[in-house]
Amino acid sequence: MAADCIFCSIIEGNIPATRVYEDADAIAFMDRTQTVPGHVLIVPRQHAANLFEVDPQAYARLFAVTAQVARAVKAGLNPPAISVLQNNGREAGQTVDHLHVHILTREAHDGYRMNWDDLHANSEQLERWAASIRENL
Ligand SMILES: [Zn+2]
Repeated sequence: MAADCIFCSIIEGNIPATRVYEDADAIAFMDRTQTVPGHVLIVPRQHAANLFEVDPQAYARLFAVTAQVARAVKAGLNPPAISVLQNNGREAGQTVDHLHVHILTREAHDGYRMNWDDLHANSEQLERWAASIRENL
């Protein structure tokens, strides 16, 4: 547990949250900022800032819980679609340095937009980027 971490404080029960699920590894609760109706966060009980600091098995477990909760959100709130989002670092939009996954209900024309514009990278660029990734696997 990190002393100044709001999510650790929620896990410990020192800050109230509307919980929807918890087990030995993770808890899920309603985000206080409901950017969409039914915005849920899933966090591991063990503090890690992001995916770069967490054990890969714990990360896999976090997403197993995410799948379970996302299906319950879909069944319980009946949105037409759901996005699952997990940001790592400020530039990616992470504002709390405790690994967490967002479940976002989605509607047609809800204004949420990921930038999927095509960079039009050529095959040389793709191969260079892929080689840099492969070297680190
Ligand atoms: Zn924490």
